[in-house]
Amino acid sequence: MEKKTIAVLTSGGDAPGMNAAIRAVVRTGIMHGAQILGVRRGYNGLLHGDMLELSLRSVSNIIGHGGTALLTARSPEFATPEGVQKAVSICRGFGIDGVVVIGGDGSFKGARALSQAGVPCVGIPGTIDNDIASTDYTIGFDTAMNTAVEMIDRLRDTTESHDRCSVVEVMGRRCGDIALLTGIAVGATAILVPEIPYDFEKDIIQRMQFTQKHGKKHFVILVAEGVGRVGGLAEAIEARTGIETRATVLGHVQRGGSPTLRDRVAGSRMGYRAVELLLEGKGNRVVGMHGDAIVDYDITEALEMKREFREDIYRMALEISI
Ligand code: ATP
Repeated sequence: MEKKTIAVLTSGGDAPGMNAAIRAVVRTGIMHGAQILGVRRGYNGLLHGDMLELSLRSVSNIIGHGGTALLTARSPEFATPEGVQKAVSICRGFGIDGVVVIGGDGSFKGARALSQAGVPCVGIPGTIDNDIASTDYTIGFDTAMNTAVEMIDRLRDTTESHDRCSVVEVMGRRCGDIALLTGIAVGATAILVPEIPYDFEKDIIQRMQFTQKHGKKHFVILVAEGVGRVGGLAEAIEARTGIETRATVLGHVQRGGSPTLRDRVAGSRMGYRAVELLLEGKGNRVVGMHGDAIVDYDITEALEMKREFREDIYRMALEISI
């Protein structure tokens, strides 16, 4: 049987655990008799033929590192029909039979375009935001939340010492999952997420006043990125309550750092399955997790799925963070 060539790239925002997926793709592919090419800087690198053959040892000791060893980029050129055609020619030139694309929803759209143009692709959900409907879990989510918890625990020490209120913005774009679970873990008095509209008086001020009546003197208000800027909110809380209030945006620190066990294992399992699919001749698919199981879907089907926000967990969080 002719040796297959599989390319692997990371695209969109980086996420801790992407390296575990790259490593699994390389080693699974080679152990199944394929040649693996690592493409640098996502679709951008693909368009420029910026790729090299990866060996079993070339991915040694990357599983514990954050970021992506293949580097990542956004490529407006690739998102055009001409760009996709150019990528197809490059793939043909390198003898590429399939591509593993590790990234978010945007990267999956690129993988679908490339599959439809004749180069089979399999997507792996890699983003800290956990905002992909076809999977319960995206690589990087756990590490990002653990980093956020560590940072907010530190913030809480100083917030408590001064009887202050801290309004903390976490990442997640239009998805409130990081804010929700982190909010539970740090005991936030209020959690604001884009999925659920909030009322300033009822959902923030009255909650603060209620807990104050029950002896609380310091407050953490957790805000998901997609809700809006925290500076103005902190000023409004201070003006309304007289409690000294500071705003903190955790920002890109949440994207870095050594991946947790959960991200290393999820990345490894999804990378393994992605290569299996390509070697079985299945393209235009995305892998994901449902509970503990690895699943895969047609990319269009996956992109059309709607995310359900866990309102039950949100309600529980509000009841116990009081
Ligand atoms: P993250 O969630 O971390 O931002 P993402 O994969 O959603 O990751 P995007 O910037 O949306 O990040 O997409 C990454 C790349 O995928 C784009 O730069 C572009 O090259 C390609 N891409 C996005 N949308 C399309 C599309 N509709 N058709 C073809 N390619 C696309």
